[in-house]
Amino acid sequence: MNQPDPERIALVIAAHPDDGDFGCAGYVARLARDGWATTFLVCTNGAKGTEDRDMPRERLISLRRDEQREACRRMGAGEVLFLDNEDGELAYDRSFLESIVRVIRTVRPHTVFTHDPTDIIIRDSFINHPDHRATGTAALDAVYPTARDHLNFPEHLDEGLEPHKVRRLLLWGSNHPNFDVDITDDVDIKIDALTAHVTQFGNREDFVTFSRERWKDENGRYIEQFRKIDLQF
Ligand SMILES: [Zn+2]
Repeated sequence: MNQPDPERIALVIAAHPDDGDFGCAGYVARLARDGWATTFLVCTNGAKGTEDRDMPRERLISLRRDEQREACRRMGAGEVLFLDNEDGELAYDRSFLESIVRVIRTVRPHTVFTHDPTDIIIRDSFINHPDHRATGTAALDAVYPTARDHLNFPEHLDEGLEPHKVRRLLLWGSNHPNFDVDITDDVDIKIDALTAHVTQFGNREDFVTFSRERWKDENGRYIEQFRKIDLQF
């Protein structure tokens, strides 16, 4: 495979399987057509994502990983990486920060997509899940300053992992979006990717109908909104 264009590498950092799909699958699908290589990093094991009391834990974890891989295939993303943190119990600590820094120094993305960790309440309609806040906070701290400075986790240098500067952050689930992406042409891909998460949206037809209606704006368009930060130095 050819070396990817460093200006066209994206990394999606999500707390749970399916978060990144909700957040940015439409835009990722468009970027894929424009030649971008996108890697997904899922930070928890997804072990809490069922109402089925008979579902064995290890089976759920394994199914959800397969679902995320399939969703990424459908949206045109590439590799999917998983951290093994416990779903619902994600704590921001040095070890979690290190694991994200390691992935940033390995993937070397121009753009990082992640959760906006700023607020606990989103649009007076949602509570920003604690795993989402922990992930977004660690991801932002990893981007700036930790991954950029060789003195942070210097043992990475011994493994050939050089410091890296991310250029752009795109945060989904924000109270302060400043960047709209019209995904009308790709909304079918986004829904198709989400329906790969069979353990989450078992009744596909219901989910497709619901999403199409719920996400449509007053002009009949579909938009993904982000808080965009272009890092100036
Ligand atoms: Zn989530």
